[in-house]
Amino acid sequence: MPTRVWDYLPEYAAERHDILDAVETVFRSGRLVLGESVRSFEEEFAAYHGVGHCVGVDNGTNAVKLALQALGVGRGDEVVTVSNTAAPTVVAIDAVGAVPVFADVDPRTYLMDVSQVEAAITPRTRCLLPVHLYGQCVDMGPLERLAARHDLVILEDCAQAHGARHHGRPAGSLGHAAAFSFYPTKVLGAYGDGGAVITSDAVVDGALRRLRYYGMEQTYYVVETPGHNARLDEVQAEILRRKLTRLDAYVAARRAVAARYADGLADTGLVLPETAEGNEHAYYLYVVRHPRRDEILEALRGYDIELNVSYPWPVHTMSGFAHLGRRPGSLPVTEALAGEIFSLPMYPSLPPGVQDKVISALRDVL
Ligand SMILES: *Cc1c(COP(=O)(O)O)cnc(C)c1O
Repeated sequence: MPTRVWDYLPEYAAERHDILDAVETVFRSGRLVLGESVRSFEEEFAAYHGVGHCVGVDNGTNAVKLALQALGVGRGDEVVTVSNTAAPTVVAIDAVGAVPVFADVDPRTYLMDVSQVEAAITPRTRCLLPVHLYGQCVDMGPLERLAARHDLVILEDCAQAHGARHHGRPAGSLGHAAAFSFYPTKVLGAYGDGGAVITSDAVVDGALRRLRYYGMEQTYYVVETPGHNARLDEVQAEILRRKLTRLDAYVAARRAVAARYADGLADTGLVLPETAEGNEHAYYLYVVRHPRRDEILEALRGYDIELNVSYPWPVHTMSGFAHLGRRPGSLPVTEALAGEIFSLPMYPSLPPGVQDKVISALRDVL
């Protein structure tokens, strides 16, 4: 068996009874869409973050998209974000007719370089969209001050940061709204697709509920502004409720995996992940860096270890975003990183013995 970069099967083996009980609970409930499980999950997920509202949606991309619309971001508005993210962050901005504007990233944390954001702000800027990449938070203090000074909204992309904290506060509680994905690989993963938006703003909450339900109030079947069908599935919601009770344990296990890598790889010449001051890292991914990345990946082929690059192509260099007019070379740190980073196997149930195999293979190759 190859060592996989991510695998849910060991977790399923351990949690099977609970997961199947969640499925059975929904199937027996008599309500298969927007029932008790979605309602309860929304309450519990909001409470976990200490915010007033959560709206479950069908995936993380739509979480970003609906959140932008609910915050009033639309055609022609500029949204400042980063190019070293999962493409869906930018696809969602594009889908609402807004224009993504990219800031470069910090060469040590690979996160949005907040000192470069102000230069990206124009009279058309409406929103700052920090991505808490790989499981740790962007430096939110200066970003909040910028947003206040320029009258902008902040939408956090938390698709990789469930359970992360920033100066003690949960990721997702730091902006006007936050978008989450529950894609299976994420720190809180469903058994299929899912997503959510959290916010402390009751008006944004109301707009989100209409947007995910064709543009209607559920009790008043008239469309005022056409929306989408973007509901969180009831079965996934019940599974997520069960898994939410274990989220802090998943994060603790990921941190233990990270600590073992840090020990085993300390003196190899690999640049290991750095946690920024004030952050508690959730380690969605364990991303290392080396100038001879491609050679290392090639040499590791013989060891039957699966490795990933997240992400090999910065979004601004993709042909689908050529119309944004960002030349290669315009985001030097982002572009340099894309050629040097790779991700090691990382999931809470990764057995230490398997992890040691990865460490020794890397030590051989390096
Ligand atoms: C996974 C991810 C998304 C999209 O989530 P889906 O549920 O796959 O639509 C958006 N942003 C980031 C940063 C992600 O990692």
